[in-house]
Amino acid sequence: MAETAYDPGNIFAKILRGEIPSHRVYEDDAVVAFMDVMPQGPGHTLVLPKAPSRNLLDADPATLGPLFAIVQKVALAVKKAFDADGVTIIQFNEPASGQTVYHLHVHVIPRFDGIPLKPHTGQMERPEVLVENAGKIRTALSN
Ligand code: AMP
Repeated sequence: MAETAYDPGNIFAKILRGEIPSHRVYEDDAVVAFMDVMPQGPGHTLVLPKAPSRNLLDADPATLGPLFAIVQKVALAVKKAFDADGVTIIQFNEPASGQTVYHLHVHVIPRFDGIPLKPHTGQMERPEVLVENAGKIRTALSN
């Protein structure tokens, strides 16, 4: 299959440009993290590089170190913020894998013993819940 080019009209590119809102919990020169609006569990956060790539397969390797340093930082913060037993990290590449938004991103999902993940891209969470959860993660990141 021919490679597909990065589409700057994708929804995460719009979020990065500030054209549509998000519940941001972290931002630096290279990386942004915000709440997933259809969380697979409380505190489900997305971490993405600002540099454009569809996914891991076409990413500049130079973006991956800074990205995964923040994935670790956010994983520790969500574990603390939600008193989680563990953290699942997921990253999809191309439609066959389940990818639905074509700007590289990493899912960081707090996990609790005996509680399964909700479906991927399932139900929209209420904005007030996302606001509250984002606040908890920001607090954990700043401590
Ligand atoms: P995937 O591309 O399969 O890794 O999944 C994209 C993820 O983005 C899903 O978990 C969606 O719930 C989430 N999502 C889609 N639109 C938005 C949005 N506007 N803000 C935050 N998360 C989103």
